[in-house]
Amino acid sequence: MTASEHQVSVAPLDGAVVADLIVERARVASAAGAVTAELVDVVVRGGRIAALGPGAGAGVAARERIAADGGLITAPFTEPHSHPDKALSRRSIGPLGLPAPLTHRPALMQRQRDLKATFTREEVADRAGAFLRLAAAQGVGTVAGQADIDTVTGLTSFEGVMDAREAHTDLLELRVTAFPQEGLVQDPGAYDLVAAALAAGAHRVGGWPNNERSPEDQLTHLDQVFELAERFGVGIDINVDYFTDPTERLLLPLAERTLAHGMQGLVNANHVGALETYSQGDARQAIEKVAEAGITVTVCPTNLSGSRPYRGVSRAAELLAAGVTLAAGTGNLQDNWEPFGNLDPLDTARLAWHAVPLADEDDRGVETAWRLVTDHAARAAGVPFNALRAGEPADFVVLAATSLTDALRNEPGPRWTVRGGRIVARRLGEIWTAPVPAGVA
Ligand SMILES: [Zn+2]
Repeated sequence: MTASEHQVSVAPLDGAVVADLIVERARVASAAGAVTAELVDVVVRGGRIAALGPGAGAGVAARERIAADGGLITAPFTEPHSHPDKALSRRSIGPLGLPAPLTHRPALMQRQRDLKATFTREEVADRAGAFLRLAAAQGVGTVAGQADIDTVTGLTSFEGVMDAREAHTDLLELRVTAFPQEGLVQDPGAYDLVAAALAAGAHRVGGWPNNERSPEDQLTHLDQVFELAERFGVGIDINVDYFTDPTERLLLPLAERTLAHGMQGLVNANHVGALETYSQGDARQAIEKVAEAGITVTVCPTNLSGSRPYRGVSRAAELLAAGVTLAAGTGNLQDNWEPFGNLDPLDTARLAWHAVPLADEDDRGVETAWRLVTDHAARAAGVPFNALRAGEPADFVVLAATSLTDALRNEPGPRWTVRGGRIVARRLGEIWTAPVPAGVA
């Protein structure tokens, strides 16, 4: 998309008409990272963009106004991989609240099971609700979130997440993945629970085949995920080759099954850290098949060193070069797996810029980083990406930053989230210091 596509010229609205909201003097940032040079007004009426163009709001009365002052306006961000059922649960781990990260994988898994066993539907809904409100304040319009479903938590985590979803539909859209974290073969009973969640409205089926005990069981798990996807007519949002472990080799079987089941464009693979440990030849073969199968890959830049166990960021640059739609997500947030996180797509994009890496001579990498949390992320979450133009729903974000690079610098400044023509969240921020030398007025 080119910048000029956004320069829609429209006849000014009749001065007698009252708009619901006008965003004044903004630069439109497209999904592809093109930014208009011209400053435009965005006039909102009846939940839709009534007009968008230079001076479009001149003389129009409005109930509310946002003075963008040259800041960017963009379609809402998408969070393509997250765990709202576990989010913000870290404070309840251990007597001191914040244990050191666990490098021992069985202990990590056991601690998760212990924690999950204490979850109640109400408590999950509270945490997931806080998670969704934070996401909305960061400018996220769609969240793809996995809810654990297994014989430890049963449908409790799923139901809590669905309750939170229902309570926050005015703020954003949550697409829930039914995720059998404890396995399908090694956790008999999980298959039927996942099927029950899909019957109750889960949007996609998830999986973690590498977590099964034998290579045969791993393939059975993979087959059962496809079986459930076909039975319920849903897409797949699967965690595959998760750790940088040279025994994890399921990306190619995933791509082969995607093609065999005719599910091109309906499968998202998360993490894929083990791809870092493939031989060059195996990696090339798997990546080509992933591209052919139209599988989106979502990496989590927080899986870099510093997070233990190391999970890596896959071969993100090679995937992009092969034409794979690469997205970047938060993954875990202040829970058993990850102590930090703020759900800010701009932080995720900036981290990805360093991690992939996307640095280049002419800063085109900044545009790629932007796409990892905009249109690429929407595709990974299985939702359409709506560009900003007259007639479209008035869902957008306004940032104080005037360029993509400044946006990724993420300096403090106001940020507004608009959904259905209404301001649903706002961040305020500024830095102040005394004049230098201090004390001189
Ligand atoms: Zn994850």
